[in-house]
This record gives sequence, structure tokens and C-alpha cells, in this order.
Amino acid sequence: MELRADLLRLVPDERRVTTSESVLDQHAQDLSYHRPRRPDAVVYAKTTEEVAALLRWASEQGVPVVPFGAGTSLEGHVIPARGGISLDLTRMDRIVELRPHDLLAVVQAGVLRSALNAAAGEHGLQFPVDPGADATLGGMAATNASGTTTVRYGGMRTNVLALEAVLADGRVVRAGSRAAKTSAGYDLRSLFVGSEGTLGVITELTLRLHGIPEAVVGVRAAFADLDAACAAAVALVGSGLSVARLELLDALTIAAVNAYKGMAYAEAPSLFLELAGSEAGVGGDVEAARELCEGEGCLAWAAERDPTARARLWEARHHVLFALVHGSPGKLHKSTDVCVPVSELPGAVRRARLLAEDSGLAASIIAHAGDGNYHVLLMLDPADPAELAAAERLNDALVEHALAVGGTCTGEHGIGQGKIGYLEREHGDLLPLMRDVKRAFDPQGILNPGKVVASEAALR
Ligand SMILES: Cc1cc2nc3c(=O)[nH]c(=O)nc-3n(C[C@H](O)[C@H](O)[C@H](O)COP(=O)(O)OP(=O)(O)OC[C@H]3O[C@@H](n4cnc5c(N)ncnc54)[C@H](O)[C@@H]3O)c2cc1C
Repeated sequence: MELRADLLRLVPDERRVTTSESVLDQHAQDLSYHRPRRPDAVVYAKTTEEVAALLRWASEQGVPVVPFGAGTSLEGHVIPARGGISLDLTRMDRIVELRPHDLLAVVQAGVLRSALNAAAGEHGLQFPVDPGADATLGGMAATNASGTTTVRYGGMRTNVLALEAVLADGRVVRAGSRAAKTSAGYDLRSLFVGSEGTLGVITELTLRLHGIPEAVVGVRAAFADLDAACAAAVALVGSGLSVARLELLDALTIAAVNAYKGMAYAEAPSLFLELAGSEAGVGGDVEAARELCEGEGCLAWAAERDPTARARLWEARHHVLFALVHGSPGKLHKSTDVCVPVSELPGAVRRARLLAEDSGLAASIIAHAGDGNYHVLLMLDPADPAELAAAERLNDALVEHALAVGGTCTGEHGIGQGKIGYLEREHGDLLPLMRDVKRAFDPQGILNPGKVVASEAALR
């Protein structure tokens, strides 16, 4: 009660400061296999000033604060590992400004990407970063999210021009500008992007918008085996064609999608791709892409121009995780997330398929093939130590291989608490420097403690 009374002095609204059990439970977990832990209270901020007052108080009291967007991250990012306050940003949901001629939008951190796209769409513009889930733009910036369109438009770091953040001591800072580029000093904007709530709370973002292409064609291309599908993906990336999305789904994934969505896609390794540009250019590009895929052994090619049919295709892709969860009742999901140089993708995926079969786990493979980023999606019972150990062995082997070929342990999901050991493996020499950065921004260690640069041992 004392905690709630303190919080109500900072955010004087009974409905936005809560210790109700159901709300604590909603903020105790993400969508993955990580064990939940409740915060002591949940605060819904509405203004930067409220965030600043809360952080000033939390720093003085030594109370942990974990920013919370839509809670769709996958590595235990939002789990309050040390209790404290879950700071929910979803009520900061105002689109502050749209400047179509400058191709930018200013939004509060809790705006959902779908809401920004609806508003930008009225001006023939889009915000293309697409992690599948309808996440908040603050959460997407905090995880440096990317997704199906990254092959064309880049991820969050490319698309955040500027941001406002509140530091642990309550100071409000702004990094970046509205200009398309800058060389002014250290790039703290990029440092906040991907910092997973450990360096500050992002309250506002200035984002790049992009024109919606005149013509868009979605394609489903099926192949005899994964090798052929991967080889076609690598060829498409280097082709110079107007590829806007380039996704790989293995046969097991297609089977799960068919069962969940009532589709009848050929149950073979497939590329889902999108070509987008001018009406005159895209027609030729579709034919060139088809020839290229046939050269790599494409068995079936289905192109869709109709917006509804294209939406159905991408909905099927975006619902892969739900299809797998649906097909494995009682199990939870763990996703690997390595990213390799794109020429290494065929070998990496071939190896992953064999390792997945050896693991004895239900394992599907999907890839943002254009970026060399692939996921083995594992359905497991987190209470079964044998299944957990098998999943960890598999992930270890994939990370080891990715690092050996010049890749990374996480292409887009981030470190959270699940990949701390892998960060040590990938950047062990840089970790002391990263911890110095953390201390400079958050000397008391109140911001999302136990994540990213925490030592793994500290979590046990
Ligand atoms: C079905 C499915 C598919 C997915 N596919 C992809 C994909 O293709 N690519 C991809 O990148 N991700 C993917 N994800 C993961 C997820 O959608 C992203 O991590 C998302 O960017 C997180 O946004 P959020 O609003 O849910 O943030 P949350 O999960 O609420 O928070 C994520 C992290 O950011 C911090 N945070 C949140 N808001 C702020 C803020 N305002 N300031 C500072 N820190 C903050 C939190 O403390 C936490 O550490 C997928 C998830 C699902 C469920």
C-alpha cells in the first residue's frame, strides 16, 4: 500500500497506478518460454513529465523500473527480473505530427505501428518496419526490431531519425534531428535504439516515412528442397530486382500454416516474396524473378496482385508462430535468431534442419532470407529439463556456427535475459565497455536490471 501511495503522488490517477493481480500477471511475462515474475506495481504513464518524475523517485529509492510496450518481445525482455515497477507506455499513443513533405512522423512511444501506418497511408506514405506483431514503436526502437521488409527498408536503427528519452535520474534528453543525415558527435540516438530499456525510457520518436509503391506483387514460390529455396533467395538478393520482402518457410511451417489458416499451400520449402515499384518496372521484375527461381529449381509459382490476396499471403506468414502454438497444445515457444552473411544462408539452414531433426523437438524453420536471418521455432515444455537442455544445445550449435562464419547470435529479437551468455560469447571483449556505458547512463542500475549486459550468474 505504501508503494502505491508513493506512486500516486507521482502519477495522481487511481486508474493508472495498479497492483491488481491480473494486471501484474499481464506484465510478468512475454510470449515465450521464459519463467514469469510479477512486478510490484504497474504504472501507465501519459506524459514525459510523469516518466521523468517516476524515474527520479525510483533512482532515489533504488526501485527497478522496466519499460513495457506491447509485451511482444521474445527473450524475457519485459520480465521484471528484480521486481519493481512495470512502466507501461501504451497510453502514450499520440501521433504528435505528420510531415508528409519531409517524409517523417513524430510519435509518442506507445503508438502501435498499425496506427502510424493508418495515418501515414492517408498521405500515400508508410512506415515499413514490420516485425509481424503489432508492437509499439517505442518497443520496436528499444529492440531495434526489423522483419519482412528489412531487405528493402532497413530496420529500426535506419528509420529512427531522432528520439526523446528520459534517463534514470529523470533528465529528459533528445538525440538526432529532423534532417535526413547528421555527423554531429557520438550517435546516442543509435545507442538508445536496441538498448532494451536499460539506458533510458524512450518517450517520443521521429521516424522516417516512405512512399507506398505504385505496384506491388506478392509471390509464393515452392521448391523441391531447402537448398534450392535458399539458393534462389541468395540469387534474388543480388539480382537488383525490386524485392521488398523475401521470406523462407520450410515444409513443416507450411503444413502448420495450412492447418491453422485453412490454406492449401504446397507443403514444400517456399519463398514468400514481394516485388514493389512502378507499374512499368514491376511486371518485368516479376518475370525476371520467376526465371531466376526456375533456374534454381522452382516447382510452383503463384503471383498475386490483388491486395486482398496479398494480405492473405502475408497474414499466413505473420501467423506462423500462432499456427505452431496451436499445433502444440500445452507447449511454449522458443525461437533462435542467428543472422549470417547472406551467402552463408543455404549452408546454415541445411545444418540447422539436420540439428533440429537430431534434437527430437518439434522444430520449424523460417528465415528473413534476404537478410540472412533465420529462426528455428521450437515448441517445448519449459518444465521438462530434457527438452530445455535439447533446445539450448541446438541454439548453442547454431550460435557457434553463426559466429564462426561472421554472423551474430541475434539478428532482431535482442538479448533480453535469454541471450546474455551469447552476448558474452560474441562480444566478450566489448562487454566491459558496454557495462561502462550502462553505468554512465544508469549508475544505480534501476533500468530493466538483469538484462543485456547483466552477468548470467546474477540471474540464477
Ligand atoms: C508473432 C511474433 C513475430 C515476431 N517477429 C519479429 C520479427 O520478425 N522481427 C523482430 O524484430 N521482432 C519480432 N518479434 C518480436 C517483437 O515483436 C519485437 O521485439 C517488438 O519490437 C517489441 O515491441 P513491444 O512494443 O512489444 O515491446 P515490449 O516487448 O513491450 O518491450 C521490449 C523491450 O523494449 C523495452 N521497451 C519497451 N518500450 C520501451 C520504451 N518506450 N523505452 C525504452 N524501452 C522500452 C522493454 O523494457 C523491453 O526490454 C515477433 C514477436 C511475435 C510475437
